[in-house]
Amino acid sequence: LTVDLGERSYPIYIGEGLLDSAAGYFTKHGISKKSTLMIVSDSHVAPLYLETLEQHLRGEGFRVTSAVVDAGESSKSLAVLEQLVAKALEAGLDRKSAVVALGGGVVGDLAGFLAASYMRGVQFIQIPTTILAHDSSVGGKVAVNHPLAKNIIGAFHQPEMVLYDLNTLQTLPIREVRAGLAEVVKHGLIWDESFVEWCVTNAGKLQALDADALGYALYKGCSVKAAVVSEDERENGLRAILNLGHTIGHALEAVAGYGELLHGEAISIGMIGSAKLGLRYGAPQSVYDVTKQSLQSCGLPTRLPAHLDTDAIMDAMSHDKKFKESKMVFVVPVAIGKVEIKSDVPVEWVREIVEELK
Ligand code: NAD
Ligand code: ZN
Repeated sequence: LTVDLGERSYPIYIGEGLLDSAAGYFTKHGISKKSTLMIVSDSHVAPLYLETLEQHLRGEGFRVTSAVVDAGESSKSLAVLEQLVAKALEAGLDRKSAVVALGGGVVGDLAGFLAASYMRGVQFIQIPTTILAHDSSVGGKVAVNHPLAKNIIGAFHQPEMVLYDLNTLQTLPIREVRAGLAEVVKHGLIWDESFVEWCVTNAGKLQALDADALGYALYKGCSVKAAVVSEDERENGLRAILNLGHTIGHALEAVAGYGELLHGEAISIGMIGSAKLGLRYGAPQSVYDVTKQSLQSCGLPTRLPAHLDTDAIMDAMSHDKKFKESKMVFVVPVAIGKVEIKSDVPVEWVREIVEELK
């Protein structure tokens, strides 16, 4: 699978056991053996997979140093970035070096921003180990958080390649599996009706981590993301459809406090909200029903925790820069596999839908 950005393109490899053959892909795509590579991983992933990758790369003649950050969103910070820069300098990383992200979206975003900013940019390789990271590893958005806003310090920095080793997914907690499937289903809902049907049929296999099913789901999810990003790398238009479910979802994450709801769980509820909006714009009932069925079949929540305060959720959405004179912008499903961007959504409708979601 290739992400084609006009003047530049990069491959996405998906398969079993790619960690043990990473060196071949690195060499094929021009990663230098003369400069030190830096692998960034987190405290959950490193004990499982870091040694395998390090030993394999060293065995093939690569010079490798590694940095392990605490697992969790709090590592996407300037403070942690600064520590990584110190480590990179100590290890002698230069402009020909590459940064390798081994982990989920947190590690991908953090290591990616390190790669984008260290010496004004070095090569970057994504080795995603969560299902959710099929979304974050493709498209080139990298960032760290600020205490006042998520992903607010960032860059566009495309990887040289994405290496998806399906074997690494076997150790994912089931809740993380399901949360990742929310973005997989999202890619179907915005782009590909038959893929949504496939997800419903294969939801059991996906949750049981069947390698063939996962490989296909990630291939399709990455394909949709790649197609959208290829048309609109810098989010001037089309790329906004990837935000399906995210306006409400981000607000829920903020109000629930990061932790109670995983990102995928929050956007699952958000996509149900968007489908309810779709009904108000005249979409057939079946669009709502299939949206709900596809998320439910993947074990995802479709209602929001009743104790979350509607005013607080509405307030959080206003920080999301979505309000303009009591109208809001939403990605709204109009058919399965097709969404439209509505920029005239009455705030009152959104409030009613938030109440209905409880
Ligand atoms: P994550 O990286 O925190 O991973 C989730 C949890 O699973 C962590 O505890 C992690 O240590 C653990 N884990 C990861 N791989 C594992 C494995 N193979 N076995 C066992 N445990 C494993 O979170 P995520 O859901 O992958 O990504 C969320 C992040 O991605 C957020 O920060 C979000 O902002 C970002 N994101 C970015 C983009 C983008 O376009 N750049 C898109 C979507 C999400
Ligand atoms: Zn998302």
